[in-house]
Parts: sequence; structure tokens; C-alpha cells
Amino acid sequence: MNVVLLGPPGSGKGTQAQRMVERLKIPSISTGEILREAIKNKTEMGLKAQAYMNDGKLVPDEVVIGIIRDRLSQDDCENGCILDGFPRTVAQAEALSQILDEKDEKLDVVVNLVVDQSEIVERLTQRQREDDKIETIYERLKVYEGQTAPLVSYYKGKGILKNIPGVGDMSDIFDRIVKAIPES
Ligand code: AMP
Repeated sequence: MNVVLLGPPGSGKGTQAQRMVERLKIPSISTGEILREAIKNKTEMGLKAQAYMNDGKLVPDEVVIGIIRDRLSQDDCENGCILDGFPRTVAQAEALSQILDEKDEKLDVVVNLVVDQSEIVERLTQRQREDDKIETIYERLKVYEGQTAPLVSYYKGKGILKNIPGVGDMSDIFDRIVKAIPES
């Protein structure tokens, strides 16, 4: 099964992805984590991505599409995966569909964690990440609205979108996700 976790920064995608790994017994892939690791290791890709990330901007499509193409070709993804933070643009969504197609697979469900903006700002200001400075938070929200939020209607049109309220107790949110995913 292939699942995409969609939602604004700070909507709890990472937390819920970890729980889903245990439940579905498939790996989760976070492009943000892979990029932070590349920055830490000062790889060529990390050096290229760093400025975008520090500014709260999206890393160019071809970079993250390359990451996902490589990662999805690895053996542990043979039964599918949970994508956390990818796709973030329509071009990425189309690339994902093509990559899965080439593997004779499909995207089964898109879980959209719905959290309103004031709650998001409150959560992000409490996090300790380099890109969680207040100006960067607002930039990331703007980028989300402009480039990623269109994916909500994109996937709704494909009939695979599940809107899940992302507020309240983490376990309750997880239960809602499990109910929304067939075969979990
Ligand atoms: P995240 O950990 O998912 O919040 O991602 C942190 C940062 O990594 C984002 O603000 C972007 O700069 C970059 N990033 C992560 N995933 C993507 C993606 N799919 N497309 C473009 N940039 C990404």
C-alpha cells in the first residue's frame, strides 16, 4: 500500500507517519529528513538544498523527485511506503504517479491532516528547528498555501483524498487515520 501524508508544516505528519509504520509494516519516507541528513553530511545535494530550506522555500522539484525515485527503488519499499512531506507540488505528484506506474503500483490513499493556521503557528513556534524561526514559519505557510494546498483538490479529483481533523489527542488522530485507510 502506498500512502501520502498531506498537510501544512506542523500538522503532525511526522508523528503520525511513525505510528503508521508500526501498523502497516511499511517504511515511511520523509524528504525533509533526507535533506536534513544531506545537509549534516555536507553532500552536494545538501549544499544545494540548504539555502532553500533556511528560507522556508521548496527545494527544486528535480532534486526531491530524484530522492524519491532512488528511495522507492529500494527493496524495503516493495510492499509500499508512507510518504511524509512528498509530494508538495503538482509536478511532484505527477512524477510520483509515473514512478509508481513504472513499478506497477499506484497511490492508494492521501491522508490530509487538517489543522487551522493559528494552531499551526502556535505548534511551530514551540519546535526547535532551524527553519522554525517566526519569519520562516510564515514563509513556509505561504509556500504551503500557494504550492502544496492545490494538491488537496488534485487528489480529491482522483477520488483518493481522506480529510482527517489533525487536532486533539495524537492517538485519537491516529485512530481516525486507521479508520480512513482500507486494509489497515
Ligand atoms: P519538512 O521536514 O517536511 O517540513 O521539510 C522541511 C523543508 O525541506 C521544507 O520546508 C522544504 O524546504 C524542504 N522539502 C521537504 N520536502 C520537500 C518537497 N517534497 N519539495 C520541496 N521541498 C521539500
